[in-house]
Amino acid sequence: MSAPRLEIDLDKIGHNARALVDRLARRGISVTAVMKASLGSPDIARTMLEAGINLIGDSRIENIERMREAGITTPMMLIRTPMMSDVHRVVRLTDVSLNSEITVMRALSHAAVAAKVRHDVILMVELGDLREGIMPADLTSTVSQVLAMPNIDLKGIGANLACRSGVAPDEKNMETLSALAVMIEQTFGLTLDIVSGGNSANLNWAFSDNSKGRINNLRLGESILLGCEPLHRQPIEGLHTDAITLVAEVIESKRKPTQPWGDIAQSAFGEEGPTLNRGKITQAILAIGRQDIDLTGLVAPTDITILSASSDHLIVDCSHHVLQVGAEVRFQLNYSAMLRSMTSPFVTKLMKTYLTPSHLHRALP
Ligand SMILES: *Cc1c(COP(=O)(O)O)cnc(C)c1O
Repeated sequence: MSAPRLEIDLDKIGHNARALVDRLARRGISVTAVMKASLGSPDIARTMLEAGINLIGDSRIENIERMREAGITTPMMLIRTPMMSDVHRVVRLTDVSLNSEITVMRALSHAAVAAKVRHDVILMVELGDLREGIMPADLTSTVSQVLAMPNIDLKGIGANLACRSGVAPDEKNMETLSALAVMIEQTFGLTLDIVSGGNSANLNWAFSDNSKGRINNLRLGESILLGCEPLHRQPIEGLHTDAITLVAEVIESKRKPTQPWGDIAQSAFGEEGPTLNRGKITQAILAIGRQDIDLTGLVAPTDITILSASSDHLIVDCSHHVLQVGAEVRFQLNYSAMLRSMTSPFVTKLMKTYLTPSHLHRALP
């Protein structure tokens, strides 16, 4: 079988999605399944739909295009504010987008008029993480401008935390978002269908006993794919944390000293070489590198230690379990490592499902 590859267990991902959908539904919260980490994989998207998801989100219009071309007709949400140069594709391919700039929404409005469609917008509000969002003091004036835009409908408001600055979603900032929703509804005499509280980092708050206020939607990616919450990277009870596995192949395996020799300058990535002399070890090289993985996010089997990586070579200490050339090693990944390997054209994505034989072992390009 070709290596390196990601083995993606669609049944486990489907289980995770369904468990999150069910648990959050009891708290009045719907789930937008965020597909960006899988580049909008149509197989994963279909798994989401089977799991009861009815709104799909992605930050990249190209991924949404890929899912549309694969025949997925479900409502889609663009979760990064559109580029001005993309507005025509956005109104054609998506139903709703997250927005924070009046100029962009005006352009969406013109594009929607030209395409004879309507487009929904959700206004993102800055709650302290200092990534995207309208400052709360500017929300009312933004809403009144949006309400006057032809072919644009105000679908709701939203926020995103824990991404740039690591600000944790909690009762306080979620209450602020709820209060802003109520204020907008009262000021303008309208109903906001969606109050989207955030991403996987909101799950601890969502599962707590605190009131959920007006928040009725979360946008979830990492928790569905990896089964853990991103604030402390703890597994979520009842979810699979091993749905995605990276497999790499050994191309060299030799006894070597742990100390380099010669005149030592910088290495390819500017890091220091080994300093501790541990005598000789058995080291193996796997045919995968920084172009395909984030070294810090790889979890090796217990008897193998990751030593270093360059662009195309991953070097491990396998003294406790000598690896032969041609052997395969399986790794678990964190979000960052998964993102990198999903994006690498050199890593084959192998979708597996044990429930539906017709889908068995579909290798995707
Ligand atoms: C990536 C992203 C999400 C999903 O985040 P996860 O941590 O993967 O759940 C949600 N909202 C926005 C705006 C995003 O960019």
